[in-house]
Amino acid sequence: MNAPATAPAAPTEAHVMQTYGRLPIALSHGQGCWVWDVNGRRYLDALGGIAVNTLGHAHPRLVPALQEQVAKLIHTSNYYHVPLQEQLAAKLCELSGLSKVFFCNSGLEANEAALKIARKFGQDRGNTTPEVIVFEGAFHGRSIATLSATANPKVHAGFGPLVQGFVRVPLNDLAAVEAAIKSHPNVTAIFLETIQGEGGVNPARIEFLQGLRRLCDAHDLLLMLDEVQCGIGRTGKWFAHQWADMQPDVMPLAKGLGSGVPIGAVVCGPRAASVLQPGNHGTTFGGNPLAMRAGVETLKIMEEDGLLAHAARVGAALKAGLERELAGVPGVVEIRGQGLMLGIELDRPAGAVLGQAAEAGLLISVTADRVIRLVPALILSEDEAAQVVAILAPLVKAFLAQPKA
Ligand SMILES: *Cc1c(COP(=O)(O)O)cnc(C)c1O
Repeated sequence: MNAPATAPAAPTEAHVMQTYGRLPIALSHGQGCWVWDVNGRRYLDALGGIAVNTLGHAHPRLVPALQEQVAKLIHTSNYYHVPLQEQLAAKLCELSGLSKVFFCNSGLEANEAALKIARKFGQDRGNTTPEVIVFEGAFHGRSIATLSATANPKVHAGFGPLVQGFVRVPLNDLAAVEAAIKSHPNVTAIFLETIQGEGGVNPARIEFLQGLRRLCDAHDLLLMLDEVQCGIGRTGKWFAHQWADMQPDVMPLAKGLGSGVPIGAVVCGPRAASVLQPGNHGTTFGGNPLAMRAGVETLKIMEEDGLLAHAARVGAALKAGLERELAGVPGVVEIRGQGLMLGIELDRPAGAVLGQAAEAGLLISVTADRVIRLVPALILSEDEAAQVVAILAPLVKAFLAQPKA
Protein backbone atom coordinates (compact mmCIF):
# COMPACT_ATOMS: atom_id res chain seq x y z
CA MET A 1 0.00 0.00 0.00
CA ASN A 2 2.86 2.33 0.77
CA ALA A 3 5.78 3.24 -1.43
CA PRO A 4 8.93 2.36 0.51
CA ALA A 5 10.13 5.39 2.42
CA THR A 6 13.16 6.62 0.52
CA ALA A 7 15.57 7.94 3.15
CA PRO A 8 12.96 10.15 4.78
CA ALA A 9 14.32 13.42 6.08
CA ALA A 10 13.98 13.38 9.87
CA PRO A 11 11.91 16.42 10.80
CA THR A 12 13.75 18.79 13.15
CA GLU A 13 12.37 21.29 15.63
CA ALA A 14 14.99 23.65 17.01
CA HIS A 15 12.57 26.33 18.16
CA VAL A 16 9.36 24.53 19.04
CA MET A 17 9.13 23.83 22.76
CA GLN A 18 9.57 20.10 23.28
CA THR A 19 6.37 19.24 25.13
CA TYR A 20 5.32 16.25 23.02
CA GLY A 21 6.80 12.85 22.32
CA ARG A 22 6.37 12.99 18.57
CA LEU A 23 6.78 10.32 15.91
CA PRO A 24 9.41 11.17 13.27
CA ILE A 25 6.70 12.01 10.74
CA ALA A 26 5.76 15.40 9.29
CA LEU A 27 2.37 15.46 7.60
CA SER A 28 1.70 17.51 4.53
CA HIS A 29 -1.90 16.99 3.38
CA GLY A 30 -4.92 14.76 3.67
CA GLN A 31 -8.02 13.52 1.89
CA GLY A 32 -10.84 11.78 3.70
CA CYS A 33 -9.30 9.25 6.11
CA TRP A 34 -5.89 9.35 4.43
CA VAL A 35 -2.93 11.62 5.08
CA TRP A 36 0.41 12.01 3.31
CA ASP A 37 3.73 12.93 4.86
CA VAL A 38 6.26 15.32 3.37
CA ASN A 39 8.05 12.34 1.77
CA GLY A 40 4.92 11.28 -0.08
CA ARG A 41 4.14 8.33 2.18
CA ARG A 42 0.46 7.61 2.71
CA TYR A 43 -1.18 6.68 6.01
CA LEU A 44 -4.66 5.47 6.93
CA ASP A 45 -5.74 7.85 9.69
CA ALA A 46 -7.48 5.98 12.50
CA LEU A 47 -6.64 8.74 14.99
CA GLY A 48 -8.56 11.57 13.31
CA GLY A 49 -6.45 14.24 15.02
CA ILE A 50 -7.48 12.61 18.34
CA ALA A 51 -11.23 12.48 17.71
CA VAL A 52 -11.19 15.95 16.15
CA ASN A 53 -11.47 15.51 12.38
CA THR A 54 -15.12 14.44 12.37
CA LEU A 55 -15.39 14.85 8.59
CA GLY A 56 -11.88 13.64 7.81
CA HIS A 57 -9.47 15.81 5.87
CA ALA A 58 -10.32 18.29 3.10
CA HIS A 59 -14.04 17.51 3.15
CA PRO A 60 -15.52 18.65 -0.18
CA ARG A 61 -18.39 20.55 1.48
CA LEU A 62 -16.63 21.85 4.59
CA VAL A 63 -13.66 23.34 2.71
CA PRO A 64 -15.63 25.74 0.45
CA ALA A 65 -17.85 26.80 3.37
CA LEU A 66 -14.80 27.68 5.45
CA GLN A 67 -13.13 29.40 2.50
CA GLU A 68 -16.21 31.53 2.05
CA GLN A 69 -16.27 32.34 5.77
CA VAL A 70 -12.59 33.29 5.89
CA ALA A 71 -13.15 35.72 3.04
CA LYS A 72 -16.13 37.24 4.89
CA LEU A 73 -15.27 37.44 8.58
CA ILE A 74 -12.88 35.46 10.78
CA HIS A 75 -13.09 37.28 14.08
CA THR A 76 -14.88 40.25 15.57
CA SER A 77 -14.83 39.98 19.41
CA ASN A 78 -17.71 39.41 21.73
CA TYR A 79 -18.38 43.16 21.98
CA TYR A 80 -20.88 42.49 19.18
CA HIS A 81 -23.49 39.90 18.40
CA VAL A 82 -22.20 37.01 16.31
CA PRO A 83 -25.27 35.57 14.56
CA LEU A 84 -23.49 32.28 13.85
CA GLN A 85 -23.17 31.75 17.65
CA GLU A 86 -26.94 31.72 18.00
CA GLN A 87 -27.24 29.42 14.99
CA LEU A 88 -24.81 26.85 16.42
CA ALA A 89 -26.14 27.21 19.98
CA ALA A 90 -29.72 26.62 18.80
CA LYS A 91 -28.60 23.49 16.95
CA LEU A 92 -26.70 22.13 19.97
CA CYS A 93 -29.75 22.76 22.17
CA GLU A 94 -32.02 21.03 19.66
CA LEU A 95 -29.73 17.99 19.50
CA SER A 96 -29.13 17.75 23.27
CA GLY A 97 -32.47 18.92 24.67
CA LEU A 98 -30.52 21.41 26.81
CA SER A 99 -31.07 25.17 26.79
CA LYS A 100 -28.04 27.48 26.65
CA VAL A 101 -24.46 27.41 25.33
CA PHE A 102 -21.22 29.24 26.17
CA PHE A 103 -18.56 29.12 23.43
CA CYS A 104 -14.80 28.87 23.95
CA ASN A 105 -11.85 27.39 22.07
CA SER A 106 -10.82 24.04 23.48
CA GLY A 107 -11.69 21.16 25.73
CA LEU A 108 -9.94 22.42 28.82
CA GLU A 109 -11.61 25.80 28.41
CA ALA A 110 -15.02 24.16 28.21
CA ASN A 111 -14.22 22.18 31.37
CA GLU A 112 -12.84 25.26 33.12
CA ALA A 113 -16.14 27.03 32.43
CA ALA A 114 -18.03 24.00 33.74
CA LEU A 115 -16.00 24.10 36.96
CA LYS A 116 -16.70 27.82 37.34
CA ILE A 117 -20.40 27.06 36.92
CA ALA A 118 -20.17 24.33 39.59
CA ARG A 119 -18.48 26.69 42.05
CA LYS A 120 -20.87 29.57 41.44
CA PHE A 121 -23.86 27.21 41.63
CA GLY A 122 -22.66 26.41 45.17
CA GLN A 123 -21.71 29.97 46.08
CA ASP A 124 -25.14 31.19 44.93
CA ARG A 125 -26.59 28.81 47.53
CA GLY A 126 -24.37 30.14 50.33
CA ASN A 127 -21.78 27.36 50.05
CA THR A 128 -18.45 29.20 50.26
CA THR A 129 -16.24 26.12 49.75
CA PRO A 130 -17.95 24.16 46.97
CA GLU A 131 -16.47 20.79 46.04
CA VAL A 132 -16.78 18.66 42.92
CA ILE A 133 -16.79 14.86 42.76
CA VAL A 134 -14.39 13.58 40.08
CA PHE A 135 -13.27 10.07 39.10
CA GLU A 136 -10.33 7.73 38.94
CA GLY A 137 -9.05 7.51 35.36
CA ALA A 138 -10.43 10.96 34.48
CA PHE A 139 -8.82 13.37 32.04
CA HIS A 140 -10.22 16.89 31.83
CA GLY A 141 -7.34 18.97 30.44
CA ARG A 142 -4.07 20.62 31.36
CA SER A 143 -4.91 24.00 32.87
CA ILE A 144 -4.21 24.17 36.60
CA ALA A 145 -7.86 23.55 37.51
CA THR A 146 -8.58 20.88 34.90
CA LEU A 147 -5.32 19.04 35.59
CA SER A 148 -6.35 19.00 39.24
CA ALA A 149 -9.64 17.38 38.21
CA THR A 150 -7.65 14.89 36.11
CA ALA A 151 -6.65 11.65 37.86
CA ASN A 152 -3.35 10.84 36.14
CA PRO A 153 -0.41 11.62 38.49
CA LYS A 154 1.83 12.15 35.42
CA VAL A 155 -0.36 15.11 34.47
CA HIS A 156 -0.02 16.54 38.01
CA ALA A 157 3.73 16.02 38.39
CA GLY A 158 5.61 19.28 38.80
CA PHE A 159 2.56 21.54 38.88
CA GLY A 160 1.53 21.58 42.52
CA PRO A 161 -0.08 22.96 44.51
CA LEU A 162 -3.16 21.54 42.85
CA VAL A 163 -6.49 23.35 42.91
CA GLN A 164 -8.53 22.27 45.91
CA GLY A 165 -12.13 21.25 46.03
CA PHE A 166 -12.08 17.89 44.27
CA VAL A 167 -13.22 14.60 45.80
CA ARG A 168 -12.11 11.55 43.80
CA VAL A 169 -14.00 8.25 43.68
CA PRO A 170 -13.89 5.11 41.48
CA LEU A 171 -15.85 5.09 38.20
CA ASN A 172 -19.04 3.02 37.98
CA ASP A 173 -19.30 2.72 41.78
CA LEU A 174 -22.55 4.43 42.76
CA ALA A 175 -22.18 3.52 46.43
CA ALA A 176 -18.81 5.33 46.51
CA VAL A 177 -20.41 8.43 45.02
CA GLU A 178 -23.24 8.30 47.58
CA ALA A 179 -20.72 7.93 50.39
CA ALA A 180 -18.70 10.89 49.07
CA ILE A 181 -21.83 13.06 48.97
CA LYS A 182 -22.59 12.07 52.60
CA SER A 183 -19.06 12.70 53.86
CA HIS A 184 -18.60 15.96 51.87
CA PRO A 185 -21.64 18.17 52.49
CA ASN A 186 -20.13 20.95 50.33
CA VAL A 187 -20.27 18.91 47.12
CA THR A 188 -22.10 20.88 44.41
CA ALA A 189 -21.44 18.85 41.28
CA ILE A 190 -20.48 15.46 39.88
CA PHE A 191 -18.10 15.70 36.92
CA LEU A 192 -17.13 12.84 34.61
CA GLU A 193 -16.49 11.80 31.04
CA THR A 194 -19.39 9.74 29.70
CA ILE A 195 -16.70 7.56 28.16
CA GLN A 196 -13.20 8.19 29.51
CA GLY A 197 -10.85 8.82 26.60
CA GLU A 198 -7.28 9.38 27.79
CA GLY A 199 -8.01 7.09 30.75
CA GLY A 200 -8.23 4.15 28.34
CA VAL A 201 -11.70 4.17 26.71
CA ASN A 202 -13.66 3.35 29.86
CA PRO A 203 -17.41 3.83 29.52
CA ALA A 204 -19.55 4.95 32.44
CA ARG A 205 -22.23 2.26 32.63
CA ILE A 206 -25.81 3.14 31.72
CA GLU A 207 -27.18 2.30 35.20
CA PHE A 208 -24.35 4.33 36.75
CA LEU A 209 -25.24 7.41 34.68
CA GLN A 210 -28.89 7.01 35.55
CA GLY A 211 -27.98 6.59 39.22
CA LEU A 212 -25.89 9.77 39.13
CA ARG A 213 -28.84 11.62 37.62
CA ARG A 214 -31.05 10.46 40.53
CA LEU A 215 -28.42 11.44 43.11
CA CYS A 216 -27.98 14.89 41.56
CA ASP A 217 -31.74 15.46 41.56
CA ALA A 218 -32.10 14.26 45.16
CA HIS A 219 -29.21 16.39 46.48
CA ASP A 220 -29.54 19.49 44.25
CA LEU A 221 -26.18 18.84 42.54
CA LEU A 222 -25.12 19.56 38.98
CA LEU A 223 -24.38 16.54 36.79
CA MET A 224 -21.57 17.61 34.45
CA LEU A 225 -20.70 15.22 31.61
CA ASP A 226 -17.43 15.92 29.79
CA GLU A 227 -18.23 14.89 26.21
CA VAL A 228 -15.20 16.65 24.76
CA GLN A 229 -14.02 13.37 23.21
CA CYS A 230 -17.03 11.03 23.13
CA GLY A 231 -19.62 13.59 21.95
CA ILE A 232 -20.57 14.84 18.46
CA GLY A 233 -21.78 11.60 17.01
CA ARG A 234 -18.74 9.47 17.75
CA THR A 235 -20.68 6.73 19.55
CA GLY A 236 -23.57 6.71 17.08
CA LYS A 237 -25.72 9.16 19.07
CA TRP A 238 -25.11 12.91 19.09
CA PHE A 239 -23.95 12.63 22.69
CA ALA A 240 -22.80 9.46 24.42
CA HIS A 241 -25.09 9.95 27.44
CA GLN A 242 -28.10 9.67 25.12
CA TRP A 243 -27.53 5.90 25.14
CA ALA A 244 -28.56 6.09 28.83
CA ASP A 245 -31.69 8.06 28.02
CA MET A 246 -30.89 10.83 30.48
CA GLN A 247 -29.58 14.40 30.44
CA PRO A 248 -26.74 16.21 32.20
CA ASP A 249 -27.02 19.75 33.56
CA VAL A 250 -23.70 20.78 32.04
CA MET A 251 -21.98 19.27 29.00
CA PRO A 252 -18.54 20.49 27.85
CA LEU A 253 -17.81 19.79 24.16
CA ALA A 254 -14.84 20.50 21.94
CA LYS A 255 -12.76 18.08 19.85
CA GLY A 256 -15.08 16.94 17.04
CA LEU A 257 -17.39 19.95 17.00
CA GLY A 258 -15.43 21.99 14.46
CA SER A 259 -13.99 19.14 12.41
CA GLY A 260 -10.49 20.50 13.05
CA VAL A 261 -11.10 24.19 13.63
CA PRO A 262 -10.46 24.95 17.33
CA ILE A 263 -13.73 25.27 19.22
CA GLY A 264 -15.20 24.53 22.63
CA ALA A 265 -18.70 24.76 24.02
CA VAL A 266 -20.45 24.29 27.34
CA VAL A 267 -24.06 23.25 26.83
CA CYS A 268 -26.26 23.76 29.89
CA GLY A 269 -29.70 22.63 30.96
CA PRO A 270 -32.14 24.87 32.84
CA ARG A 271 -30.56 24.37 36.29
CA ALA A 272 -27.16 25.62 35.08
CA ALA A 273 -28.05 27.91 32.17
CA SER A 274 -28.18 31.18 34.10
CA VAL A 275 -25.52 30.57 36.76
CA LEU A 276 -23.00 32.69 34.81
CA GLN A 277 -24.14 36.30 34.54
CA PRO A 278 -22.76 39.22 32.53
CA GLY A 279 -19.15 39.82 33.57
CA ASN A 280 -18.67 36.37 35.16
CA HIS A 281 -16.85 34.71 32.28
CA GLY A 282 -15.49 35.44 28.84
CA THR A 283 -12.89 34.76 26.17
CA THR A 284 -11.46 36.81 23.31
CA PHE A 285 -11.51 34.16 20.62
CA GLY A 286 -14.47 32.12 21.85
CA GLY A 287 -17.37 31.90 19.42
CA ASN A 288 -15.62 33.63 16.54
CA PRO A 289 -17.34 33.44 13.16
CA LEU A 290 -14.81 31.00 11.66
CA ALA A 291 -15.15 28.48 14.49
CA MET A 292 -18.94 28.88 14.58
CA ARG A 293 -19.20 28.30 10.85
CA ALA A 294 -17.08 25.16 11.23
CA GLY A 295 -19.47 23.92 13.93
CA VAL A 296 -22.61 24.75 11.98
CA GLU A 297 -21.34 23.09 8.79
CA THR A 298 -19.98 20.04 10.62
CA LEU A 299 -23.35 19.30 12.25
CA LYS A 300 -25.20 20.02 9.00
CA ILE A 301 -23.04 17.66 6.97
CA MET A 302 -23.30 15.00 9.69
CA GLU A 303 -27.09 15.21 9.49
CA GLU A 304 -27.30 15.30 5.71
CA ASP A 305 -24.99 12.32 5.35
CA GLY A 306 -26.47 10.27 8.20
CA LEU A 307 -23.11 10.04 9.94
CA LEU A 308 -24.54 8.91 13.31
CA ALA A 309 -25.94 5.71 11.86
CA HIS A 310 -22.80 5.39 9.73
CA ALA A 311 -20.49 5.73 12.76
CA ALA A 312 -22.54 3.15 14.65
CA ARG A 313 -22.46 0.70 11.73
CA VAL A 314 -18.79 1.11 10.76
CA GLY A 315 -17.77 1.20 14.43
CA ALA A 316 -19.58 -2.09 15.03
CA ALA A 317 -17.89 -3.59 11.95
CA LEU A 318 -14.48 -2.36 13.13
CA LYS A 319 -15.02 -3.77 16.61
CA ALA A 320 -16.27 -7.08 15.21
CA GLY A 321 -13.22 -7.27 12.95
CA LEU A 322 -10.87 -6.63 15.85
CA GLU A 323 -12.70 -9.19 17.97
CA ARG A 324 -12.56 -11.75 15.19
CA GLU A 325 -8.81 -11.30 14.79
CA LEU A 326 -7.76 -10.61 18.38
CA ALA A 327 -10.25 -12.02 20.90
CA GLY A 328 -8.62 -14.87 22.77
CA VAL A 329 -5.12 -13.83 21.70
CA PRO A 330 -2.98 -14.10 24.86
CA GLY A 331 -2.19 -10.58 26.06
CA VAL A 332 -5.37 -8.97 24.71
CA VAL A 333 -7.28 -8.03 27.87
CA GLU A 334 -10.37 -6.41 26.38
CA ILE A 335 -11.73 -4.73 23.25
CA ARG A 336 -14.22 -2.06 24.27
CA GLY A 337 -15.93 1.17 23.37
CA GLN A 338 -18.81 2.25 21.22
CA GLY A 339 -19.20 3.43 17.66
CA LEU A 340 -15.94 4.92 16.45
CA MET A 341 -14.36 5.25 19.88
CA LEU A 342 -12.64 1.94 20.49
CA GLY A 343 -9.89 0.71 22.77
CA ILE A 344 -7.86 -2.50 22.73
CA GLU A 345 -6.40 -3.09 26.18
CA LEU A 346 -3.22 -5.17 26.28
CA ASP A 347 -1.62 -6.77 29.32
CA ARG A 348 1.54 -4.65 28.91
CA PRO A 349 2.65 -1.15 27.91
CA ALA A 350 1.71 -0.78 24.25
CA GLY A 351 3.60 2.38 23.31
CA ALA A 352 5.82 0.50 20.84
CA VAL A 353 2.78 -0.41 18.73
CA LEU A 354 2.33 3.25 17.86
CA GLY A 355 5.54 3.52 15.86
CA GLN A 356 5.12 0.07 14.35
CA ALA A 357 1.63 0.97 13.12
CA ALA A 358 2.91 4.21 11.60
CA GLU A 359 5.68 2.23 9.88
CA ALA A 360 2.95 0.01 8.46
CA GLY A 361 0.97 3.04 7.27
CA LEU A 362 -1.62 3.34 10.04
CA LEU A 363 -2.08 6.24 12.48
CA ILE A 364 -3.45 5.30 15.92
CA SER A 365 -2.74 6.27 19.49
CA VAL A 366 -1.91 4.50 22.71
CA THR A 367 -3.39 5.86 25.91
CA ALA A 368 -3.32 4.91 29.57
CA ASP A 369 -0.09 3.05 28.74
CA ARG A 370 -1.73 -0.18 27.57
CA VAL A 371 -4.73 0.79 25.50
CA ILE A 372 -4.58 1.11 21.71
CA ARG A 373 -7.16 3.76 20.85
CA LEU A 374 -9.01 4.17 17.58
CA VAL A 375 -10.96 7.42 17.12
CA PRO A 376 -11.05 7.91 13.33
CA ALA A 377 -13.13 10.39 11.34
CA LEU A 378 -16.83 9.48 11.32
CA ILE A 379 -16.66 9.15 7.52
CA LEU A 380 -14.47 6.02 7.77
CA SER A 381 -15.83 3.48 5.28
CA GLU A 382 -16.39 -0.21 6.01
CA ASP A 383 -13.61 -0.99 3.58
CA GLU A 384 -11.25 1.37 5.40
CA ALA A 385 -12.31 -0.20 8.72
CA ALA A 386 -11.34 -3.58 7.27
CA GLN A 387 -7.97 -2.12 6.27
CA VAL A 388 -7.43 -0.88 9.84
CA VAL A 389 -8.02 -4.43 11.10
CA ALA A 390 -5.82 -5.92 8.37
CA ILE A 391 -2.88 -3.71 9.34
CA LEU A 392 -3.36 -3.58 13.10
CA ALA A 393 -4.30 -7.14 14.09
CA PRO A 394 -1.12 -8.86 12.77
CA LEU A 395 0.98 -6.13 14.36
CA VAL A 396 -0.65 -6.58 17.75
CA LYS A 397 -0.30 -10.37 17.51
CA ALA A 398 3.39 -10.10 16.64
CA PHE A 399 3.92 -7.58 19.44
CA LEU A 400 2.25 -9.85 21.99
CA ALA A 401 4.19 -12.88 20.77
CA GLN A 402 7.41 -11.23 21.96
CA PRO A 403 8.48 -11.85 25.55
CA LYS A 404 7.08 -9.23 27.91
CA ALA A 405 9.60 -6.46 28.51
C1 LIG B 1 -8.98 16.19 25.01
C2 LIG B 1 -9.84 16.26 26.19
C3 LIG B 1 -9.88 17.39 27.01
C4 LIG B 1 -8.96 18.56 26.79
O1 LIG B 1 -9.20 19.18 25.59
P1 LIG B 1 -8.10 20.22 25.00
O2 LIG B 1 -8.79 20.78 23.79
O3 LIG B 1 -6.88 19.44 24.69
O4 LIG B 1 -7.87 21.23 26.06
C5 LIG B 1 -10.76 17.41 28.06
N1 LIG B 1 -11.59 16.38 28.29
C6 LIG B 1 -11.59 15.28 27.54
C7 LIG B 1 -12.54 14.17 27.83
C8 LIG B 1 -10.71 15.17 26.47
O5 LIG B 1 -10.68 14.06 25.73
